[in-house]
Amino acid sequence: MLSLIDLSSQRLDDYSSVLPRGKFDVEHAVETVRPICDAVRTEGEAALRRFSEQFDHVVPERLRVPAEALAAALDGLDPAVREAIEISIARRRAVCEAIESEDAWRSIEIVPGAVVGNRVVPVGRVGLYVPGGLAPLASSVVMNVVPAQVAGVPSLAVATPPQAEFGGLPHPVTLAVCALLGVDEVYAVGGAQAIAMFAHGVPELCRRVDMVTGPGNIYVVAAKRLLRGVVGIDAEAGPTEIAVLADDSADPAYVAADLISQAEHDPMAGSVLVTTSRELADAVRIEVARQVDLLATAERLKVALTGDQSGIVLVADLDQGLAVVDAYAAEHLEIQTRDAASVAERVHNAGAIFVGSWSPVPLGDYSAGSTHVLPTGGAARYSSGLTVRSFKRSIHVIDYDAAALAEIGPHVVDFAHAERLPGHARAITIRTEEAR
Ligand code: NAD
Repeated sequence: MLSLIDLSSQRLDDYSSVLPRGKFDVEHAVETVRPICDAVRTEGEAALRRFSEQFDHVVPERLRVPAEALAAALDGLDPAVREAIEISIARRRAVCEAIESEDAWRSIEIVPGAVVGNRVVPVGRVGLYVPGGLAPLASSVVMNVVPAQVAGVPSLAVATPPQAEFGGLPHPVTLAVCALLGVDEVYAVGGAQAIAMFAHGVPELCRRVDMVTGPGNIYVVAAKRLLRGVVGIDAEAGPTEIAVLADDSADPAYVAADLISQAEHDPMAGSVLVTTSRELADAVRIEVARQVDLLATAERLKVALTGDQSGIVLVADLDQGLAVVDAYAAEHLEIQTRDAASVAERVHNAGAIFVGSWSPVPLGDYSAGSTHVLPTGGAARYSSGLTVRSFKRSIHVIDYDAAALAEIGPHVVDFAHAERLPGHARAITIRTEEAR
C-alpha cells in the first residue's frame, strides 16, 4: 500500500522535492473559498445558512448554539468520556501553566533614565475553530480553549460544523467540552464560512474577532490564508501528517499502527516512514495492509496511504534520515530508534517530536499535555504549534527622560540624516538643541 523511495545511494543537499507530499494546493483552494468568504462579508447570516445547507446538508435552527443545548450535552456525557476529557484538560493546562507562560512585564534600564520595557498582553477576542466534517474533534476544543484561557484572553468564541444527525447542532461531545470549559459562545458554523464569520463579524450574530486559531481541512486552511491580515491567524494547521524515523530496533506493528492512526484523519493526510532498515520497511508494509482492514475507517485510510503524500523512504544511515526528516518538517515526528532521545535532540524541523516506542502520536492527540494544533505542509520549518504564546502579543514601552534623550540624540540625528529623513532628526533636535 505504501510506495517505496530508495534514497540510500543518493546524497542530496535538499531532500524536500523528492519526498512524499501530496499536491496540497492551498492556492487552488483559496480560489474555491474566496466567493464563500466574500458572501459571508456582504450577506452575513443568509450566506452562512446557504453554505451550511450546501456543505453540511443541514441548516441549524439557530446558528449560535443555545445555552440549554450546551447544558444538555454536558448532562448527557458518558462518565468515562467525561473523565478522559477532564484528564486531557488537566494535563494540557499543567503544561500551559508550567512551560508556556511568560512574565507579563520585563524591562531594562539601558543607561540611567533610558528604560525599554516589554509588556506581554493577551489578544482581546479570539475565534477558535474545531473541526467536525469527517470526525467531531472534541479534543480540539481542549487544545484551543485551554491555552487561550491560560493566556488570559478575555473573549472566546468557538465555531464547529453543524451535524445533520443532531438536527443542526454540533456534535454533543464537542458541545460538552465547551460547557466543561465554560465557553458559552458557540456557533454551529463550519469550514471557510466560519473563518469568514469570525474575521468580518456578522451583524446581530457574531462580533468580529482579533485572531482565529485551530486546525481544519484544506478549505479552513485556505480561508485562513485568504483572510490573514483582516484577522490574525495561527499557523496553517491543515490535513494531518506523521513521519516516523526508525531503525531496525523498531517494532513494525507499532510503526504501522501509528502511520495508520494519522491517515485516519483525512484522505489528504500523509504518513511517511523514514528508515535505515529494508527489513523494517517490508514488515511495516505487511503490517499496514493487515491492520487497515481491521478498522471501520479502512476506506479513508486506503486513499490516504496510497496517495502521493504517503510512503516509505529508505535511507543509508541515521544522519541521512535526520536530513530527510528535517527537509520534510513533519507536523508529527516519531523517533523509533535506539537511543531515541539523543536522536530527537538532533532534529531541527518538526511541529512536535514523539520520543521512543511509548510516546505514540495519538497520546499527543488527546492526553499527553502537549498541543495537537500543529503546523502542516512543511510550515514547521518556520512556525510553531498552538500554545499560550500564540495568544499573546508583545508591546514595547519606551520611557526615556530628558538627559537620556540628550545623550543618545546626536546619534539618532545622524542616523535620520543618513536615511534622508530630516523630520525624524528635527523631532529630536527640537527637544535637545533648538529654541522653539
Ligand atoms: P472541518 O471542520 O475542517 O471541515 C468541514 C467543513 O469543510 C464543512 O463544514 C464545510 O464547510 C467545508 N467543506 C467541505 N467540503 C467543501 C467544499 N467542497 N468546498 C468548500 N468547503 C467545503 O472537518 P474535516 O473535513 O473533518 O477536516 C478536519 C481536518 O483537520 C483534517 O484534515 C485533519 O487532519 C485536520 N487536523 C489538523 C490538525 C493540525 O493541528 N494540523 C489537528 C487536528 C485535525
